[in-house]
Amino acid sequence: MTEQFRNLIGGEWREGANTSTNVNPSNTDDVIGQYARATAEDMAAAIAAAKAAFPGWSRSGIMERHGILRRASDEIVSRKEELGRLLSREEGKTLAEGVGEVVRAAQIFDFFAGECLRLAGETVPSARPGLRVDITREPMGVVGLITPWNFPIAIPSWKIAPALAYGNTVVIKPAELVPGCAWALVDILHRAGLPAGVLNLVMGKGSVIGQAMLDSPDVKALSFTGSVATGRRVAEASAKHLRKFQLEMGGKNPMVVVDDADLNVAVEACVNGAFFSTGQRCTASSRLIVTEGIHDRFVEAMTARLKGLKVGDALDPGTHIGPVVDQSQLDQDERYIAIGREEGATLAFGGERLNLATPGFYLQPALFTGATNQMRISREEIFGPVASVIRVRDYDEALATANDTEFGLTAGICTTSLKYAEHFRRNAEAGMIMVNVPTAGVDFHVPFGGSKGSSYGSREQGRYAAEFYTHVKTAYTLP
Ligand code: ADP
Repeated sequence: MTEQFRNLIGGEWREGANTSTNVNPSNTDDVIGQYARATAEDMAAAIAAAKAAFPGWSRSGIMERHGILRRASDEIVSRKEELGRLLSREEGKTLAEGVGEVVRAAQIFDFFAGECLRLAGETVPSARPGLRVDITREPMGVVGLITPWNFPIAIPSWKIAPALAYGNTVVIKPAELVPGCAWALVDILHRAGLPAGVLNLVMGKGSVIGQAMLDSPDVKALSFTGSVATGRRVAEASAKHLRKFQLEMGGKNPMVVVDDADLNVAVEACVNGAFFSTGQRCTASSRLIVTEGIHDRFVEAMTARLKGLKVGDALDPGTHIGPVVDQSQLDQDERYIAIGREEGATLAFGGERLNLATPGFYLQPALFTGATNQMRISREEIFGPVASVIRVRDYDEALATANDTEFGLTAGICTTSLKYAEHFRRNAEAGMIMVNVPTAGVDFHVPFGGSKGSSYGSREQGRYAAEFYTHVKTAYTLP
């Protein structure tokens, strides 16, 4: 009998209309559990519960909030192996990556537990004699969170933790492919002592319950991470309700490698940034822009490094790259590999489906050479272990190519020159710049977000999260 997992609505674990089966992409015979699939009515009930809980939670004491977030952080880290295993089993990233992501979730709750104790406003003199002006940050109300499948515990954590710390109540709708980590996280927070209705979990289909969340006038702020297409729907629906919203969407992140780069540093940054976590990161570097003096040595070293990587079961300790998340993502990856060939790029390595001991969605990492920045494989987000090498003349052409994209999440450069590093930091059009480190892999306590078509609204994570999860009140008092 597979285990059943229910939605949390108003402090009660409730059945959905039916269930969906959560399977392991490394082995589709391995069923993780049956997860409730909610209806639009369940979503409405969760939003109503969050609305009812808001007056109490928004006035709760800082020690209560701090204690709950701290206890959650402690439990997450004490269960890192078990939760990391669950994460890798449902999403397919390697166990080391899964455990690392769980630790990061714990760090995020720890950080925002601390923020509860640092809430502060400003008191300033008024322009009018005798008056006092108080400037405070106030919670938004019911916050809706819609999360993707590629970071099943980190992304829910970096949205839930600040939402609660600043006094909001929450309804979270996790991605349908990875309800397990979101369920475990909500269970931990619920048992850590959150009052009924402060945090609600509603699992199920985006087009049904996600849409019901978008259409509710009671959701006062909405934080979304996912595809550009759904992000646009969030924007349109939010504009209709004059609701605050925040979007994190795609990337087509460049990693520039110039002639003076340390070859080993460049290869490590590119292999990690392009292919680890199976390339399924919005911060992955899918365009490797390489100047001609180092190009051939770089391609040779990359290919040799890729040959040494083992694609396999995410839970196998020898695996470097786990499976693709599901059949439809695998189909998309293979479609783009075919497109790259048709467009005239050379498949220098990989790109083959692998049949291993267990039925899973295994794909060899694919490296194209001879790509141009105009090809579809260089312009559209693939979201898989597929990267292209684009050969350029010099640094100036590399920078122009890096910036020639509608996206702007991360941009990296490998160089030993301070001149290039500084120039790139200032002129690359992206929200996050990486020098001699992979484009993917960020800290938990500093702002995360992009420019251009990658993101909309204020930054996530760290102290900058307050911008989204609060509004500012200016009060004038004549004592
Ligand atoms: P991906 O391609 O990464 O699955 P999506 O944008 O489809 O990106 O999914 C991201 C999140 O958005 C998921 O939780 C998904 O269920 C949700 N979602 C999908 N369609 C809608 C919709 N119409 N309204 C609200 N949420 C949606």
